Amino acid sequence: MTTFSKYFQQAARQLACDEVIHVGETCWQSTVWNFTGTIASCTKFVLPLALIPIIMKIRHLNKDVFRQSFRMFVDFFLGAWLVSGLGLSNICLFRKLFGCFYYPTVLAVPSGLGAFISSWVLAERANYHYAHGLSTVAFQVSLLRGDFYIFRILRNSRWAITIAFMLLNATLMHGLRENRSGRFYWLTQPLKPKTDYHEFYEESQYMDKLSPIVRSQIKCCAHEMNCDSYIYEGIKKFFKFGLGLEIARNIIYNYSLILKNPLKFFEVFFKRLNWNLVLFLVGYVGIYRFLNCWLSRRNIYLSEEVSKKDNKLASLLCGLVFYLYPDQSIFSHTAITIIEIYWKLYYEQIKSFVTWIPLDKIKIIHIVFPIVFGYVTHIRAFNPWLAPPILKKLMHLSTNYKDAAIVTKYHELLFGLTPQFIL
Ligand SMILES: [Zn+2]
Ligand SMILES: [Zn+2]
Repeated sequence: MTTFSKYFQQAARQLACDEVIHVGETCWQSTVWNFTGTIASCTKFVLPLALIPIIMKIRHLNKDVFRQSFRMFVDFFLGAWLVSGLGLSNICLFRKLFGCFYYPTVLAVPSGLGAFISSWVLAERANYHYAHGLSTVAFQVSLLRGDFYIFRILRNSRWAITIAFMLLNATLMHGLRENRSGRFYWLTQPLKPKTDYHEFYEESQYMDKLSPIVRSQIKCCAHEMNCDSYIYEGIKKFFKFGLGLEIARNIIYNYSLILKNPLKFFEVFFKRLNWNLVLFLVGYVGIYRFLNCWLSRRNIYLSEEVSKKDNKLASLLCGLVFYLYPDQSIFSHTAITIIEIYWKLYYEQIKSFVTWIPLDKIKIIHIVFPIVFGYVTHIRAFNPWLAPPILKKLMHLSTNYKDAAIVTKYHELLFGLTPQFIL
């Protein structure tokens, strides 16, 4: 990092912004382009995401689904467009303000400021999702570059990352079960505590054979419907979810290919889908629900402690399917979600511990979003080999490839060449 900043000081400090940021355009022309030239590409970026509710409810489409999808589109579009427009334009602002480029003020601070301003305008949902997604990327970068022994083991051993995922998953599912406020997006929600004996017991053809109920007058688990249907519905839902996710991901990656030749969509559909992801999702929810039901059936006295242990054990074991799809993004998402959940759970304790920070008056999202956005933008330009492909793709789309033009120019000026892999 020090070497990089040293090179940067020598090579780029005195450059004008029309030599590296917007070649052949004035700052004003570039600013206008930053807000107009990115509209179509931001639409491309957000459209597949907004289609997810429609794909997931394809059999039960109604006005509400379309309204939900449209609102999602507007919220996320505004986020991508505003953050990239402001971030790119701020580069010129900082160049003018300081009279030269400094290592942090060429990208990290301008984009961070763009995210900070946007965070006051955007809907809470867009703020949360962008901050969460970028934190996940930032964590993933640490996983890839971190010199700590633990990071090295995690990125080099499939079993190590699987075991770590199992432990994180148990921690996360326990946190989710304890959490009474706030909603966190996770693969499945744990069952909340059982409170009542029920008058009836709905029979399950398969589970009753595998784990017979001792007393037939209770409802054994805290879920609605019988155990067989509960497990089957989970598997069905996650199969559709996995498929929808993979289709959306493939559309983002092969957008131009599909636009040129719509028949390519079918090729993408059949050949390029990653079935391991679908298998991971189905296995995760299937095993969790099966084990949870199987274990809960012994807990006829509705003991809260036993129920908590059952949830942890089922979560720990279902994490084993991560071996099929040891994806660093999912791993990072798990770690970030744990921080969010436990932050919420222990908020009062944290507040009393750090009394010198007026946590009640600060909205933490206005701090986290700019910091992580500034960080990943910096990594994307100066340590591009560490940037996950999805980050590069999303930045290409949200800035309409202006990020690639800046990185190309910068590396050309600094090293006289631009290796293709960094773009
Ligand atoms: Zn400029
Ligand atoms: Zn059950």
